[in-house]
Amino acid sequence: MTPEGLTRMPVLFVGHGSPMNAVEDNEFSRAWTGIGKKLPRPKAILCISAHWETEGAGVTAMERPRTIHDFYGFPPELFAQEYPAPGSPRLARRVAALVPGARLDTEWGLDHGTWSVLKRMYPKADIPVVQLGLDRFLDPEGHYRVGARLAPLREEGVLVLGSGNIVHNLMLADPSAALYDWAVKFDERVGRLIEAQDTDALVHYDGLGEPARLAIPTNEHYLPMLYALALRTDGDRVRFFAERIVFGSVSMRSFIIGPG
Ligand code: ZN
Repeated sequence: MTPEGLTRMPVLFVGHGSPMNAVEDNEFSRAWTGIGKKLPRPKAILCISAHWETEGAGVTAMERPRTIHDFYGFPPELFAQEYPAPGSPRLARRVAALVPGARLDTEWGLDHGTWSVLKRMYPKADIPVVQLGLDRFLDPEGHYRVGARLAPLREEGVLVLGSGNIVHNLMLADPSAALYDWAVKFDERVGRLIEAQDTDALVHYDGLGEPARLAIPTNEHYLPMLYALALRTDGDRVRFFAERIVFGSVSMRSFIIGPG
């Protein structure tokens, strides 16, 4: 328990994959529903989504964030989805105090990296949600440092959620393809490095060779994981709750970091 009597919040990294996971009943959507039921109820959620890159740090600060349908070529059912969770200008100001130079944003909203997962975890959309953008000016180590600055939020009842994919190569994705060997290798290696707490290797992933180059052609889906890892402290355990590769080159590996 924290000084205020709140339960110290776990931290999540979710491999979100296809936006269709928001509406399909599958092993991932069921896993997200299960995690939502298991977690202590957060006072608010801060999501770092692969789908919001900003120039300089930005944090959504509106009372009523819109649901953003930031994808193409999907069925009308998906475009009809709404996730009307409130925002939290208060949490936005708190995040801006923790992340120097962060700008309070009133334009963005909730992109599918956020709402496709939260729709399953918290279908009532009754917990305030704020997004922190991925600052394009930072290198991976810089992102990790920003993540570490968010540590006090765990003591304040805020659930920090990183939403991306450890392996994410859409150029090579093919639903009919067998799994790529490099994708399996890199995903498993990252899993082992997470278990071994080898943060240095994970931050400097460009040292992990050819599989890393293929798994991370651009790093916006990988970086949200570093935010989650940066919040791990002594006494926390990591538990994987999804570990499959889909479309040959998208890893759905997801984990929860928390006590016990
Ligand atoms: Zn994505």
